[in-house]
Order: sequence, then C-alpha cells, then structure tokens
Amino acid sequence: MSRSAAEFRRAKLVLPGGVNSPVRAFKAVGGSPRVIQRASGCTLFDVDGRAYTDYIGSWGAMIVGHAHPVVVEAVTRTARDGLSFGTSTALETDLAEEVIRRMPSIERVRLVNSGTEAVMSALRVARAATGRSKVIKFAGCYHGHSDGLLVRAGSGPATLGLPDSPGVTRAVAGDTLIADFNDSDSVREHFKICGDDIAAILVEPVAGNMGVVPPSSVFLQELRKLADTYGAILIFDEVMTGFRVARGGAQSLSGVRPDLTTIGKVIGGGLPVGAYGGRKALMELVAPLGPVYQAGTFSGNPVTMAAGLATLSLLDQNAYARLEAASARLAHGLSEALSSNDQPGVVQRVGSMLTLFFGTDRVDNMKHATQAAHDTFARFFNGLLDRGYHLPPSGYEPWFVSLAHTDSVIDQTISTANVVLRELEAAASPIGC
Ligand code: PMP
Repeated sequence: MSRSAAEFRRAKLVLPGGVNSPVRAFKAVGGSPRVIQRASGCTLFDVDGRAYTDYIGSWGAMIVGHAHPVVVEAVTRTARDGLSFGTSTALETDLAEEVIRRMPSIERVRLVNSGTEAVMSALRVARAATGRSKVIKFAGCYHGHSDGLLVRAGSGPATLGLPDSPGVTRAVAGDTLIADFNDSDSVREHFKICGDDIAAILVEPVAGNMGVVPPSSVFLQELRKLADTYGAILIFDEVMTGFRVARGGAQSLSGVRPDLTTIGKVIGGGLPVGAYGGRKALMELVAPLGPVYQAGTFSGNPVTMAAGLATLSLLDQNAYARLEAASARLAHGLSEALSSNDQPGVVQRVGSMLTLFFGTDRVDNMKHATQAAHDTFARFFNGLLDRGYHLPPSGYEPWFVSLAHTDSVIDQTISTANVVLRELEAAASPIGC
C-alpha cells in the first residue's frame, strides 16, 4: 500500500471521510486522495515522494504558485513579530486599501476568515438594509456552507425550497429562491411573485462552482436592472473570481457594478481569509458604526494580511497578461486534443479558470453541467493523475492556472492529455478481430 493510502486510512479513523472539506475526497472520480507533503511553484509532492503538476491551486488561492519566496518571506517576517493580537494593525488597512484600489465598487470593506463568512455577512447587511428576508441564488452557484445558501435547484426538492442538506431548517431554506444562471426571466418571475420581500440577488459573476460558466453579455446587466427596479441589493460573490480572472475581478470584465461584493482566496495568499464590501452607505450599517453585528477573533490577522499583500504585489498587469496567455494556451491545446481524438467536449474558460466538460458542446447553466459526461471526466482525471497531473477531483470544478505554470508545463499537460484521450478512445472502440 502506498504511504498516501495508508495516511488516508489513518485519517478516516479521525476525520469524517478522511477529509476536512468534502471536495478533497475522490468520491466523484474513485480511488484514494493523494496526501500532500509539500508544494513549490506549480508542483505538489505527496508523502510517497511523487510529484504532480497542480491545477487545484488550493481552489484558486495560489495564483502566484506555491511557496512563492516573496509570500513566504512576508509571512515569516510578520510571524516573527507575533501571530495575532486581537487589536488593530496597519497591515489590515494596507490590504483594505489595495482591495479598494483594484475594485472601485468597494468603498468600505470588512475582513473575515472565510468565503462562507463573507457571503453570510454580506447577506445579513442586504437584509438589514432592505428590511426584507428572501435571497435569489442560482442553481449550481456555491456561496459557502451557511444554512440558507445550501439550497440549489436542479432537483425537484430544491426548487421547492426544501433543504439540500439535512440540518438546514425548512424555514431558513424557504427564504432562498432558486433561479437559473444566464436566464434573467427566471429571476424576473421571482420578483413578480414576491418582489417586495426579496432583499438580494446573489450571483457568481462568472460561475465557477458548476465548472466555469461565463455569463451571457446581457445577463449581469439584466440582474442590475432588476435589482434597481425592485429595490434589491445586487451581491457579486467573487470569492473565486476576485483578483483571479482580472485585476479588478469579474466585475471589471462585465462593467456591471454590484452593491456588495464578497472576496476571499487570492487576498489571503493561501491563508484563511474572506472579505465583504461595497457601497459606503451599506457598509456603514455594520457594527460598530451600525446595528448589523459581525465579528471575528482572527479577522484581519496580520500573517494573513502579509500573505495577501505580498500576493497582490505580484499581480500587476503584466502578471494578468501572462496568466491569460498561459490559460489560453492550455484551453486551446485541450480543445484541439478533444477534436483530434474524436472526443466530444468543450473547454470553457475565463481568465485563469477553465473547465473541460465532456460530452457536450456548451454549458450555460447547472442543467447543462449536470448533463456533461462526468464518468468520462473521472477516467480522464485518473489517467492524468497516474501520469503526474492533479486536476480538481470533480467535473464541476475549474482548473486553476498560476503564474508558475510555464509554457513548457502547459505543453506537457496538453501532450499528456492527448495520451489519456487516445487511451479513452481506444477503450471505447469495439475490439476488432
Ligand atoms: N463563494 C464562492 C464563489 C466560492 O467559490 C467559495 C469556495 N469555493 C465560497 C464562497 C466559500 O469560501 P470558503 O471555502 O473560504 O468558505
């Protein structure tokens, strides 16, 4: 048995399913997760000493690559001066200023410890500002695991507002209305029925959690109009896309200005983080200025702030141009690999996030994403893993490209993908005589 398998067996005796986040388990792809010991640049090393080119990137956070010397130096220097004070620091103001410089819709920002917390808190502000209770979210979008947001459509019970997860009460789930991504009519319908009780529209402005699904050219504009018409708050959840798809996040690509934005991942440089911010008048509702209570022992932690600031300092326009070029090269190579191996599928990409959906030529929403050939993805995943490439272990996730993914790494990935696709094709062909 490999050391990874032995470690995972040990983990299962003390951690539910052997993991601390379900996305890490290999449930959708089969087999046993690799237990990682260390990482550098775009490479993960497991406890057996095997190397893997990494396309998980800690689910998007590691945009400059693992253990970047500038980030590690900032973290160690800051750690030497103390890990957490529970008081104000200059570093948290530095990070807030940098976020606001890059995302002008954010006039005031509150730092928290996870994306879950950021979205939960932004929604609380929206409800307080409007005095309303309901939120519209989109099937297939993920906004963390707070109770009311664990509801999604795609299945009958979810569209009825029943909890997706046991433990979420019917009352809480009932405040979440489900609409379809890229379908503003499905949002309009909700407003027609109960517009005066809808506090917010919450959306990933580029969906990442059903695989990468770009918004149509008018979708986000329509959401902005509907929110304005009905007096609801428009919240962009940019926990994944913020400072990843572009310097100013997905909102800078669409030109649509949300009232509130949630961010995370990249701004923590690999340490736990989240943040929510937006219009000054809304953020002034937050305690201690206003009545909306939200607090955190570790919020604005100096070590996290240092990691985030160091990461952002490496993300200048030139860095985004390099990310764009590397990611376009990968997407193009994978598309060609699909067609040259007669494998139906499509690569959808925005900036340095991309998803290869098998068995379909377009994915606009969760229903399409569900119809993709996830069994083919599982075989593709395992073929690449065996050859030293670690994709996210699910066909509903983006692959994340970092600044450490050089052209030669990308080209090797493409040629290995070709090998695996040829194998899949051979396995699918009837055996000749
Ligand atoms: N929102 C989005 C769009 C996310 O992608 C995620 C996590 N993948 C979250 C919220 C939750 O963030 P966290 O895991 O830090 O709680």
